[in-house]
Amino acid sequence: MKTSRRRFLQTAGIATAAVLAKPNLRAWAENASATAAITPALSVFNYSQVELLDGLFRKQFDNNHYLFLHLDEDALLKPFRQRSGMPAPGPDMGGWYDNADDFDPPDNFHSFIPGHSFGQYLSGLARAYAVTGSKPTQEKVHRLVRAFGETVEPEGKFYRGYHLPAYTYDKTSCGLIDAHEFAQCPDALDVHWRATEAVLPYLPEKALSRAEQRARPHKSVADTWDETYTLPENFFLAYRRSGKSRYRELAERFIEEDYFGPLAEGKNVLPGEHAYSHVNALSSAMQSYLVLGKEEYLKAASNGLRMVQEQSFATGGWGPNEAFVVPGEGFLDDSLGTTHATFETPCGAYGHFKVTRYLLRVTKDSRYGDSMERVLYNTIGGATPILADGTSFYYSDYHFNARKVHYRDKWPCCSGTFPQLTADYGISSYYQASDGIYVNLFLPSRLSWSQNGTACTLTQKTEYPTANTSQMLFTLARPESFTVYVRIPAWAGSGTRLAVNGTKADAEVVPGKFLAVQRTWKDGDRIELEMEMPLRLESIAPETHNRVALMRGPVALFGIEPIPPRLTRKQLLAAMPSPQAKEDMIVQTDQGAMTMRPFASIMSETYRLYQTVEI
Ligand SMILES: [Zn+2]
Repeated sequence: MKTSRRRFLQTAGIATAAVLAKPNLRAWAENASATAAITPALSVFNYSQVELLDGLFRKQFDNNHYLFLHLDEDALLKPFRQRSGMPAPGPDMGGWYDNADDFDPPDNFHSFIPGHSFGQYLSGLARAYAVTGSKPTQEKVHRLVRAFGETVEPEGKFYRGYHLPAYTYDKTSCGLIDAHEFAQCPDALDVHWRATEAVLPYLPEKALSRAEQRARPHKSVADTWDETYTLPENFFLAYRRSGKSRYRELAERFIEEDYFGPLAEGKNVLPGEHAYSHVNALSSAMQSYLVLGKEEYLKAASNGLRMVQEQSFATGGWGPNEAFVVPGEGFLDDSLGTTHATFETPCGAYGHFKVTRYLLRVTKDSRYGDSMERVLYNTIGGATPILADGTSFYYSDYHFNARKVHYRDKWPCCSGTFPQLTADYGISSYYQASDGIYVNLFLPSRLSWSQNGTACTLTQKTEYPTANTSQMLFTLARPESFTVYVRIPAWAGSGTRLAVNGTKADAEVVPGKFLAVQRTWKDGDRIELEMEMPLRLESIAPETHNRVALMRGPVALFGIEPIPPRLTRKQLLAAMPSPQAKEDMIVQTDQGAMTMRPFASIMSETYRLYQTVEI
């Protein structure tokens, strides 16, 4: 690339700024005084401690890692360089990501939010580096942070006339703090500080709901879609990772008390709100709880998630047309005939995993793990891969005549959360307690950790949930006493059992709880878990109980066309494994056989999640 005089001067100016900023960086490290009021009972392992083994979820992680590792860096940086008046070589990414002037909702979403997902791609890469130790990935993170830093100037030109400044800043912030935390990027905190100063003049005085944004003067409808209410989580994380109290002040400034207050009191204020961003905001409630120690934020998050679950589909997905509905009035059922945009899948699953991880760590309540795996197998596990040109999976479709399709626009929000989520699969699977470890997800995986100074590994071999078993093999440098807590899903039947080295465990198996196995573990020990997975029907809502989904364990089974017009509960509950495909079940009806298939196995066939049965 040819360096113009102007660019040279800009770079020189930035280099000076970086030198000046260095004492600050040291000061942060020396004075890092971030405190959190609450330490969760369970901690996450480092990304490098959990390795996913061969299977669907490892494949999703590898696909995303490969794709983002090979993305053109000039293209990724282009909107930032353009809006800062710098030379901007390289191709346009396309879709939402471009800097252009033809955005015209609802018809044209080209150039909707220029550069919006840059920080998420950076975050996904930083986490992927932490998982794999891939040097090229780390180097790419470092190069991207450095080049992005060159585009950040004090006037915040990037945000001039920008529709959603908080939205994009929040994602950039996450990418930079992850680059620092997980990819040891030396510039990231300094760039983060400058990026924060650049956006502040463009942010309102407090978190604004969408109604408040609509009530204020605005030029475009997109100016009313900003998500200032999701800012506290990353501001608190920036505070905790840098020790800089200014971030804590900013976090507190953007806590949306008007949302969390009613939720903490059990008032359902979700209806009508944008679904994903309001689930994501529950993670801000959790960081508020952890740092400030105020119980009402924990209540807001746990009540909020419960209210989301009360209006969830059998898959664990929620928010038809990206909105929460008034419960009890048949709106979820109506959506089956009116929309194909039922669940915003990569973003929704990412937000769901994040808040359930916080809540599980604080409460040790296994139902958050149940909720996580329901979303895992029935939504994101069936998302089609992002393509190199930015073609992405966005909505799961639960219409009566549903298909898997790609989203209209390239590089949407869901292309940003997908690589973050797949990098998080490992750390969502196991947790560390003071007295041992928690096994939360039954994924083919290997956990390596130190227990009282003893090097231990747990290797989980499983074809769950197609099979109903999981085997956990231990290697230990020497015998060690600790407890292994294994999640027993709430739906598990009475035939569920857990054995250690072939002998049934003493502890009682209670569905909906973690089962504690305490012993002196030695090299070669093994746990065998066998879950009874009775078939059951779940109605879409209490007021429409003749609209049901067939469930087997955590898995929702989708009817594959042709679907007979008349079905009974008895027929559905008599489904038998298919002799052709091990994931499928077959239902015998008066009009012939119907195939039932998990979301992850559906390709281009027309399918139906909810069947209508006689009352
Ligand atoms: Zn999305």
